[in-house]
Amino acid sequence: MNLKTFRGGIHPPERKEATCDLPIEHVPTPASVVIHLTQAVGAQNQPLVKIGDRVLKGQKIGDVDACPAAAVHASITGIVKKIEPAPQSNLRDGMAIFIEADGTDETAYMPPLDPFACSREEAIKRLRDAGIVGMGGASFPTDVKLAPPADKPVDTIIANGAECEPYLTIDYRTMLETPAVVVEGLAMAAHILGADKAIIAIESNKADALPGIQREIPAHAHGVPMEAVLVATKYPQGGEKMLIKAITNREVPSHGLPFDVGVIVQNVGTLVAISEAFIQGKPLIERGFTVSGEACRTPKNLYAPIGTVIGSLIPDVIQVSDDLRKVIFGGPMMGVAVPTLQTPIAKGTSGVLFFNTAEATQYEERQCIRCGRCADACPVRLMPMLMNAAIAIKDLDRADALGLIDCFECGACSYSCPARIPLTQRFRLGKDLLRNQRAKEARHGK
Ligand code: SF4
Ligand code: SF4
Repeated sequence: MNLKTFRGGIHPPERKEATCDLPIEHVPTPASVVIHLTQAVGAQNQPLVKIGDRVLKGQKIGDVDACPAAAVHASITGIVKKIEPAPQSNLRDGMAIFIEADGTDETAYMPPLDPFACSREEAIKRLRDAGIVGMGGASFPTDVKLAPPADKPVDTIIANGAECEPYLTIDYRTMLETPAVVVEGLAMAAHILGADKAIIAIESNKADALPGIQREIPAHAHGVPMEAVLVATKYPQGGEKMLIKAITNREVPSHGLPFDVGVIVQNVGTLVAISEAFIQGKPLIERGFTVSGEACRTPKNLYAPIGTVIGSLIPDVIQVSDDLRKVIFGGPMMGVAVPTLQTPIAKGTSGVLFFNTAEATQYEERQCIRCGRCADACPVRLMPMLMNAAIAIKDLDRADALGLIDCFECGACSYSCPARIPLTQRFRLGKDLLRNQRAKEARHGK
């Protein structure tokens, strides 16, 4: 069967077998959580609580009057012990609220709201109040994504069930275990957006999730034309631009966004959060994630409160071996190696990988041999070796002209490079430098 896909990409070992058959386990309520005040792309939140306050599970504890932004909420009931910087998975210490559990489970959820009966403005406000962000890793506020500019009408919404990162199986288990909730969340998102159709895209290595989803569509799609389709198993099939190309054959332009071609993509975990925000009035305070890797002796799919410190789950919930060398938040391709086990689970944490020495080995970087494999692998048709050379001599204008900003840091080029050049890391850094340079130029009126 010829499955839909995109040009370029790679086929890294999938390594999903350790967790793909394991049902999602709910962790016991932790004794304490560390909730970063800002967990979304956009403005910085301010605390709405102070040290000593008792907070209820679901209570809003951080927000800002700005857009884009996403509120944060207490994920357990207890007492605010500290408000101070703490390590987070983006490697920057960010201000966080430390809550100690008081052993009760009182909640402060919002009243249920029917997205099919309320106004569009009320529905968007509910998403904002629930602090929902893209849970595939991007952490972009969902209320903003589902309200595109009036001159950018969206006709199609795609549920991203590709989960192309090696090791990760949480989206797969979510589709397998709660297909009705995924379908319901997609119908709600499509309705709010005013989209004509909704498509659930599943990679072919997870084809057994398809029938369950298809069975739930008639009862839970609320009249939204909806179908579930398989796409080829290839990395990075779950990248927004790749999925849009594979499903609709539309190409998001350079420097453009999905709504420029009339499409919005939402991760399946986000769809579950949308459904819960309306049906239960529950803000985004918990999430599922995969724990795996060769140094993890208990690979699992877990569901835990946001703010659960990963080290606090060791050894009762997760056991690691003595040769643990590296901890990655996210998948191995796009995730970030964190320096401490004190890092808490955030809204964007799809996995935590524990790598041993063999997996973590950093190969010595050699000179570029101009083989072109990085360009063949790049799904957005960039020339990674040229961008790398431009960044190396600090010629950021040239890197920009080569399309640096279109790089979405998928890691396919680094993976393909026989000289072991850390291209993706260089591009991440190069983009930061370029943004700073452009901001400086704007300040000086250039
Ligand atoms: S240049 Fe960027 S988008 Fe292209 S393969 Fe490398 S990391 Fe992915
Ligand atoms: S894959 Fe590596 S060695 Fe080959 S051209 Fe690209 S940067 Fe150079």
